[in-house]
Amino acid sequence: MKYNRVLIKLSGEALAGDQGNGISGEILNKISSEIASLQKTGCEIAIVVGGGNIHRGVAGATSGMDRATSDYMGMMATVINSLALQDALERRNVYTRVLSAIAMQEVAEPYIRRRAVRHLEKKRVVIFAAGTGNPYFTTDTTAALRANEINADLIMKATKVDGIYDKDPMKHKDAKKFDKLSYIEVLNKDLKVMDSTAITLCMDNDMDIVVFNMFEEGNIARVVQGENIGTVVTK
Ligand code: UDP
Repeated sequence: MKYNRVLIKLSGEALAGDQGNGISGEILNKISSEIASLQKTGCEIAIVVGGGNIHRGVAGATSGMDRATSDYMGMMATVINSLALQDALERRNVYTRVLSAIAMQEVAEPYIRRRAVRHLEKKRVVIFAAGTGNPYFTTDTTAALRANEINADLIMKATKVDGIYDKDPMKHKDAKKFDKLSYIEVLNKDLKVMDSTAITLCMDNDMDIVVFNMFEEGNIARVVQGENIGTVVTK
Protein backbone atom coordinates (compact mmCIF):
# COMPACT_ATOMS: atom_id res chain seq x y z
CA MET A 1 0.00 0.00 0.00
CA LYS A 2 1.27 3.44 -0.86
CA TYR A 3 -0.83 5.22 1.75
CA ASN A 4 -1.36 4.01 5.32
CA ARG A 5 -3.71 6.67 6.60
CA VAL A 6 -6.20 8.38 4.31
CA LEU A 7 -9.06 10.81 4.65
CA ILE A 8 -11.96 10.21 2.29
CA LYS A 9 -14.19 13.17 1.48
CA LEU A 10 -17.70 12.20 0.39
CA SER A 11 -20.11 14.89 -0.71
CA GLY A 12 -23.64 14.80 0.61
CA GLU A 13 -24.88 14.84 -2.97
CA ALA A 14 -23.09 11.59 -3.69
CA LEU A 15 -25.10 9.90 -0.95
CA ALA A 16 -28.33 10.96 -2.61
CA GLY A 17 -27.64 8.98 -5.78
CA ASP A 18 -30.05 9.50 -8.70
CA GLN A 19 -32.87 10.67 -6.46
CA GLY A 20 -31.04 14.02 -6.01
CA ASN A 21 -31.68 14.48 -2.31
CA GLY A 22 -31.98 12.46 0.87
CA ILE A 23 -29.98 9.29 1.42
CA SER A 24 -29.95 6.39 -1.01
CA GLY A 25 -29.70 2.98 0.62
CA GLU A 26 -28.14 1.58 -2.52
CA ILE A 27 -25.35 4.16 -2.52
CA LEU A 28 -24.70 3.65 1.19
CA ASN A 29 -24.42 -0.04 0.53
CA LYS A 30 -21.93 0.47 -2.28
CA ILE A 31 -19.74 2.92 -0.41
CA SER A 32 -19.71 0.92 2.80
CA SER A 33 -18.73 -2.20 0.90
CA GLU A 34 -15.73 -0.42 -0.66
CA ILE A 35 -14.69 1.06 2.67
CA ALA A 36 -15.05 -2.29 4.43
CA SER A 37 -12.71 -3.94 1.90
CA LEU A 38 -10.18 -1.17 2.30
CA GLN A 39 -10.33 -1.44 6.09
CA LYS A 40 -9.49 -5.17 5.85
CA THR A 41 -6.17 -4.26 4.25
CA GLY A 42 -5.14 -2.47 7.45
CA CYS A 43 -5.37 1.01 5.96
CA GLU A 44 -6.40 3.63 8.52
CA ILE A 45 -9.49 5.44 7.29
CA ALA A 46 -11.05 8.74 8.28
CA ILE A 47 -14.12 10.10 6.50
CA VAL A 48 -15.68 13.53 6.17
CA VAL A 49 -19.22 13.55 4.81
CA GLY A 50 -20.91 16.64 3.41
CA GLY A 51 -24.52 17.62 3.90
CA GLY A 52 -25.58 19.07 0.55
CA ASN A 53 -28.15 16.31 -0.02
CA ILE A 54 -30.11 17.70 2.94
CA HIS A 55 -29.18 21.34 3.42
CA ARG A 56 -26.59 23.83 2.17
CA GLY A 57 -25.94 27.01 4.13
CA VAL A 58 -25.69 29.24 1.07
CA ALA A 59 -29.01 28.00 -0.31
CA GLY A 60 -30.83 28.99 2.87
CA ALA A 61 -29.08 32.36 2.99
CA THR A 62 -30.05 33.06 -0.64
CA SER A 63 -33.69 32.66 0.27
CA GLY A 64 -33.38 35.13 3.14
CA MET A 65 -32.33 32.98 6.06
CA ASP A 66 -29.63 34.14 8.46
CA ARG A 67 -26.39 32.69 7.04
CA ALA A 68 -24.97 31.38 10.30
CA THR A 69 -28.26 29.68 11.23
CA SER A 70 -28.45 28.13 7.79
CA ASP A 71 -24.87 26.92 8.12
CA TYR A 72 -25.62 25.30 11.48
CA MET A 73 -28.47 23.46 9.75
CA GLY A 74 -25.95 22.32 7.15
CA MET A 75 -23.67 21.03 9.88
CA MET A 76 -26.59 19.11 11.41
CA ALA A 77 -27.18 17.59 7.99
CA THR A 78 -23.65 16.21 8.00
CA VAL A 79 -24.38 14.53 11.34
CA ILE A 80 -27.41 12.77 9.83
CA ASN A 81 -25.27 11.55 6.93
CA SER A 82 -22.49 10.46 9.27
CA LEU A 83 -24.87 8.35 11.33
CA ALA A 84 -26.28 6.76 8.19
CA LEU A 85 -22.78 5.87 7.03
CA GLN A 86 -21.82 4.56 10.46
CA ASP A 87 -24.87 2.32 10.45
CA ALA A 88 -24.09 1.00 6.96
CA LEU A 89 -20.50 0.23 7.98
CA GLU A 90 -21.43 -1.43 11.23
CA ARG A 91 -23.85 -3.70 9.40
CA ARG A 92 -20.70 -4.93 7.67
CA ASN A 93 -18.97 -5.40 11.02
CA VAL A 94 -16.66 -2.44 10.54
CA TYR A 95 -16.05 -0.66 13.84
CA THR A 96 -16.62 3.04 13.45
CA ARG A 97 -16.72 6.13 15.62
CA VAL A 98 -18.53 9.34 14.78
CA LEU A 99 -16.75 12.38 16.21
CA SER A 100 -18.78 15.56 16.13
CA ALA A 101 -17.39 19.08 16.08
CA ILE A 102 -20.62 20.24 17.75
CA ALA A 103 -21.30 18.66 21.15
CA MET A 104 -24.11 16.13 21.02
CA GLN A 105 -22.92 13.51 23.44
CA GLU A 106 -26.02 11.33 23.20
CA VAL A 107 -25.39 10.72 19.51
CA ALA A 108 -21.66 11.03 18.90
CA GLU A 109 -18.35 11.46 20.66
CA PRO A 110 -16.98 14.98 20.80
CA TYR A 111 -14.17 15.71 18.37
CA ILE A 112 -10.90 15.38 20.25
CA ARG A 113 -7.86 15.10 18.02
CA ARG A 114 -5.93 12.66 20.18
CA ARG A 115 -8.97 10.44 20.49
CA ALA A 116 -9.43 10.43 16.73
CA VAL A 117 -5.81 9.34 16.26
CA ARG A 118 -6.20 6.59 18.87
CA HIS A 119 -9.29 5.25 17.09
CA LEU A 120 -7.37 5.21 13.83
CA GLU A 121 -4.46 3.35 15.40
CA LYS A 122 -6.98 0.77 16.58
CA LYS A 123 -8.18 0.50 12.95
CA ARG A 124 -11.60 1.95 13.64
CA VAL A 125 -13.09 3.99 10.83
CA VAL A 126 -13.44 7.55 12.09
CA ILE A 127 -16.22 9.73 10.69
CA PHE A 128 -15.87 13.45 11.33
CA ALA A 129 -19.32 15.00 11.66
CA ALA A 130 -20.62 18.58 11.95
CA GLY A 131 -17.90 20.02 9.73
CA THR A 132 -15.46 22.31 11.51
CA GLY A 133 -18.21 23.36 13.92
CA ASN A 134 -18.10 26.89 12.48
CA PRO A 135 -20.41 28.64 10.03
CA TYR A 136 -18.99 30.05 6.77
CA PHE A 137 -16.90 26.93 6.21
CA THR A 138 -17.49 23.85 4.11
CA THR A 139 -16.90 20.17 4.54
CA ASP A 140 -14.11 20.40 1.94
CA THR A 141 -12.30 22.71 4.33
CA THR A 142 -13.15 20.30 7.14
CA ALA A 143 -11.48 17.52 5.13
CA ALA A 144 -8.35 19.64 4.62
CA LEU A 145 -8.23 20.62 8.29
CA ARG A 146 -8.83 17.16 9.76
CA ALA A 147 -6.45 15.47 7.28
CA ASN A 148 -3.68 17.76 8.52
CA GLU A 149 -4.61 17.30 12.16
CA ILE A 150 -4.47 13.51 11.98
CA ASN A 151 -1.39 13.48 9.73
CA ALA A 152 -3.16 11.72 6.90
CA ASP A 153 -1.03 10.77 3.90
CA LEU A 154 -3.67 11.82 1.41
CA ILE A 155 -7.11 13.34 0.91
CA MET A 156 -9.27 11.22 -1.37
CA LYS A 157 -11.99 13.37 -2.86
CA ALA A 158 -14.66 10.97 -4.08
CA THR A 159 -16.76 12.32 -6.95
CA LYS A 160 -19.05 11.22 -9.76
CA VAL A 161 -16.43 11.87 -12.43
CA ASP A 162 -13.01 10.31 -12.88
CA GLY A 163 -10.91 13.38 -12.15
CA ILE A 164 -10.55 17.10 -12.75
CA TYR A 165 -11.43 18.47 -16.19
CA ASP A 166 -10.88 21.88 -17.77
CA LYS A 167 -14.67 22.14 -18.16
CA ASP A 168 -17.68 20.14 -17.06
CA PRO A 169 -17.34 16.72 -18.79
CA MET A 170 -21.09 16.10 -18.33
CA LYS A 171 -21.83 19.13 -20.53
CA HIS A 172 -18.84 19.34 -22.89
CA LYS A 173 -17.69 16.42 -25.04
CA ASP A 174 -14.25 17.99 -25.64
CA ALA A 175 -13.49 18.47 -21.93
CA LYS A 176 -9.88 17.57 -21.14
CA LYS A 177 -8.89 15.61 -18.06
CA PHE A 178 -5.81 16.56 -16.03
CA ASP A 179 -3.64 13.79 -14.58
CA LYS A 180 -1.78 16.12 -12.27
CA LEU A 181 -2.23 19.72 -11.16
CA SER A 182 -0.51 22.02 -8.70
CA TYR A 183 -2.55 23.73 -6.00
CA ILE A 184 -1.84 27.09 -7.54
CA GLU A 185 -3.08 25.90 -10.95
CA VAL A 186 -6.34 24.80 -9.36
CA LEU A 187 -6.72 28.24 -7.79
CA ASN A 188 -5.68 30.22 -10.86
CA LYS A 189 -7.81 28.24 -13.29
CA ASP A 190 -10.68 28.41 -10.77
CA LEU A 191 -11.27 24.68 -11.14
CA LYS A 192 -14.15 23.51 -9.02
CA VAL A 193 -12.37 20.75 -7.13
CA MET A 194 -12.67 21.97 -3.58
CA ASP A 195 -13.28 25.51 -2.41
CA SER A 196 -10.31 27.85 -2.28
CA THR A 197 -10.02 27.80 1.52
CA ALA A 198 -9.59 24.01 1.41
CA ILE A 199 -7.06 24.15 -1.44
CA THR A 200 -5.04 26.86 0.30
CA LEU A 201 -4.91 24.86 3.52
CA CYS A 202 -3.64 21.85 1.58
CA MET A 203 -1.11 23.98 -0.30
CA ASP A 204 0.30 25.52 2.88
CA ASN A 205 0.73 22.10 4.45
CA ASP A 206 1.70 19.94 1.44
CA MET A 207 -1.37 17.74 1.73
CA ASP A 208 -1.93 15.88 -1.55
CA ILE A 209 -5.44 15.39 -2.93
CA VAL A 210 -6.61 12.72 -5.34
CA VAL A 211 -9.90 13.35 -7.12
CA PHE A 212 -11.40 10.10 -8.39
CA ASN A 213 -14.62 8.37 -9.39
CA MET A 214 -15.95 6.51 -6.40
CA PHE A 215 -18.72 4.81 -8.33
CA GLU A 216 -16.32 2.52 -10.13
CA GLU A 217 -15.89 -0.62 -8.11
CA GLY A 218 -12.46 -1.05 -6.55
CA ASN A 219 -11.36 2.53 -7.14
CA ILE A 220 -10.96 3.42 -3.47
CA ALA A 221 -8.51 0.52 -3.03
CA ARG A 222 -6.72 1.40 -6.30
CA VAL A 223 -6.01 4.93 -5.12
CA VAL A 224 -4.62 3.65 -1.81
CA GLN A 225 -2.38 1.19 -3.63
CA GLY A 226 -0.94 4.13 -5.55
CA GLU A 227 -2.44 3.35 -8.95
CA ASN A 228 -2.51 6.36 -11.23
CA ILE A 229 -6.20 7.00 -11.48
CA GLY A 230 -8.06 10.28 -11.23
CA THR A 231 -6.26 13.59 -10.86
CA VAL A 232 -3.59 14.33 -8.29
CA VAL A 233 -3.33 17.82 -6.84
CA THR A 234 0.09 18.33 -5.36
CA LYS A 235 2.97 20.85 -5.01
N1 UDP B 1 -20.98 23.77 7.07
C1 UDP B 1 -20.52 24.79 7.88
N2 UDP B 1 -19.29 24.69 8.46
C2 UDP B 1 -18.47 23.63 8.23
C3 UDP B 1 -18.92 22.60 7.37
C4 UDP B 1 -20.17 22.69 6.81
O1 UDP B 1 -21.24 25.77 8.11
O2 UDP B 1 -17.36 23.60 8.79
C5 UDP B 1 -22.36 23.83 6.52
C6 UDP B 1 -22.49 24.72 5.30
O3 UDP B 1 -23.72 25.39 5.39
C7 UDP B 1 -22.53 23.71 4.17
C8 UDP B 1 -23.26 22.55 4.79
O4 UDP B 1 -22.78 22.54 6.13
O5 UDP B 1 -23.22 24.21 3.06
C9 UDP B 1 -23.05 21.21 4.15
O6 UDP B 1 -21.70 21.00 3.84
P1 UDP B 1 -21.15 21.05 2.32
O7 UDP B 1 -21.89 22.07 1.52
O8 UDP B 1 -19.68 21.17 2.40
O9 UDP B 1 -21.55 19.60 1.84
P2 UDP B 1 -21.29 18.86 0.42
O10 UDP B 1 -21.24 19.92 -0.64
O11 UDP B 1 -20.00 18.14 0.54
O12 UDP B 1 -22.45 17.92 0.32
